Amino acid sequence: MRIDVATLFPEMCERVMSESIIGRARRRGHIEFCAHQIRDYTLNRQKQVDDYPYGGGHGMIMQAQPIYDCCQDVIRQVEQAGHARPHVVFLTAAGQPWNEEHCKRLATYDSLLLVCGHYEGIDERVIEALADEEISIGDYVLTGGELAALVVADSVFRLCPGVLSSPEGYEEESYYSGLLEYPQYSRPEEWNGRSVPPVLLSGHHENIAKWRKEQALERTRSRRPDLYREYQKKVNGENS
Ligand code: SAM
Repeated sequence: MRIDVATLFPEMCERVMSESIIGRARRRGHIEFCAHQIRDYTLNRQKQVDDYPYGGGHGMIMQAQPIYDCCQDVIRQVEQAGHARPHVVFLTAAGQPWNEEHCKRLATYDSLLLVCGHYEGIDERVIEALADEEISIGDYVLTGGELAALVVADSVFRLCPGVLSSPEGYEEESYYSGLLEYPQYSRPEEWNGRSVPPVLLSGHHENIAKWRKEQALERTRSRRPDLYREYQKKVNGENS
């Protein structure tokens, strides 16, 4: 899979996506990532990308033209590299809330183009012209779309083949099945007077699996009743 980002801060995105598991997966060729500078597509000598909002109000708005031209060029580059036309996602505070179901869905595309706003936002007309969808990473406002784009890229990439050592790496984790993950422990068996639950030391795989499922259900029920209700509906639907 390939993800491109259109941003005013490509170095910031490049840096984050060069580290750790994602950086290693890129170097091994399992995934591709490329950040593009929107400012390179301005038509004025000052390389200005923003202007005052029509109707007044404070702050500046990112203009449509540089974003549009940048995205069209990126789409051309991606297609020339042999990928499908990218699915275009604008990161906006007013977008659909990001969750694991969106991760799974976006991970099925061959290529994504994530577009980051800044200042007070983006001229609506370029969103109308280009966006296949808008995503928000939560009910709060960031200074720019870069952190949101990185959240989307990281959480989608980790579902791509070769990024984690095996699918169990994500299938058992929080949200994937609709439940929060059970508690995890590592060595030593006793730490600061706290012991590892004995069942995990028993070597009895069936009992361990049963305990983990119970813990995941209880954790989800007590911490996220909204998820728990959805999970119960899904399970009851499958069993009826
Ligand atoms: N005036 C906008 C509003 O009230 O919805 C907020 C603009 S924000 C300061 C600048 C940029 O940050 C946005 O264009 C968007 O790209 C990004 N952004 C802010 N909050 C976000 C969120 N929760 N999810 C995704 N992107 C966000």
